[in-house]
Amino acid sequence: MDKTTSEKTTVIVAALDQKTTAKEVQEKLARNLGNTSEAGKIKKIITGKQQQVIIKVTGIEEAKQLKEKKINENEKLKNELKVTQPRSKTHEVIVYGIPDGTQQEDITKSITTALNKSPETQTIAKIFEDNNKRTHAIVKLPTIDAKKLITIGRILIGFLSCTVKPYHTIIRCFKCQEIGHKTYTCTNEERCGKCCGKHDTRKCEADKNYTCINCVNYNKKNGNGFETTHCAYDRKCPTQLKTMNDLRDAFRRSRQQHQPTQTANNEQ
Ligand SMILES: [Zn+2]
Ligand SMILES: [Zn+2]
Ligand SMILES: [Zn+2]
Repeated sequence: MDKTTSEKTTVIVAALDQKTTAKEVQEKLARNLGNTSEAGKIKKIITGKQQQVIIKVTGIEEAKQLKEKKINENEKLKNELKVTQPRSKTHEVIVYGIPDGTQQEDITKSITTALNKSPETQTIAKIFEDNNKRTHAIVKLPTIDAKKLITIGRILIGFLSCTVKPYHTIIRCFKCQEIGHKTYTCTNEERCGKCCGKHDTRKCEADKNYTCINCVNYNKKNGNGFETTHCAYDRKCPTQLKTMNDLRDAFRRSRQQHQPTQTANNEQ
C-alpha cells in the first residue's frame, strides 16, 4: 500500500471537549459503533497525541463510511467528536522552459501522459517568466507523483521536451524582507516589502512605486545591475531567482556526489 492510500484509509477522531482523553474517545466509539461487522473493517486503532484516536480501516470507501455515516451522522457522536483524515503530502516541481502560451490544462495533460495516469489530486500550476524571458511552471503534486516525475525528468508540452526538477522554496522574512531567515529569528530593522521604507508592508502607501530592498542590496554588494522596481515578494525578483538557481546548482552538485537518489529538501 502506498502512502497516499494509507492516508485515505485513516480516520482521525478527536473530542471537541478538550478534557476528554483519547481513551474516553475510544470508549465512546466502542459503545456507539461496536458491532461485529464494523470490527471487521477496522484494521487498527491507535491512541494518538492530543486526545486523538487514529483508526486504520480496510479501504477508502470504509474510511468514508466511518467518517460520514457512522460518526458525523450519529446523533450521539456528532456533537462530541470531530473526525478528520490526514492530509496527503504534496511537493512542488518546476518545469523549465515551457512554450509561450502554455495553459494550465496543457501542463496537467502533459503530466497525466508522463505519469500514465491522472495525479491523485488536482494539479496547481503557477506559470511565470524569468529575467531572461523564459517561461517556467511550478506545479504542486502529491509527493508520490512529484517523485515519479522527477525521476522521469521531463515532460512533453506541445513539441517541446521540458525538464522537470524539484522546486526549492526559499524563505523570506516578512519583517526585513531578507531571504534565508524567518521573521521570528529576525534581528534586522523593519523594511517594507513594497517600497523598502522603514515600516510594515501592510501599512505601505506607495502606489506602484515599488523598490525591492533585496535587489538594491544585491546590486550594492555585487555591483550587479538587477532591476529593482518590484516588490520584495515578487516571484520574478532577480535576487529570489538567483537564490533559487544557486540552490538548484547546489542540489545538482550534491546529486553528482551521492548518486543515485539523494534528495535535497529546503522546504519552509
Ligand atoms: Zn528579517
Ligand atoms: Zn512601503
Ligand atoms: Zn528583487
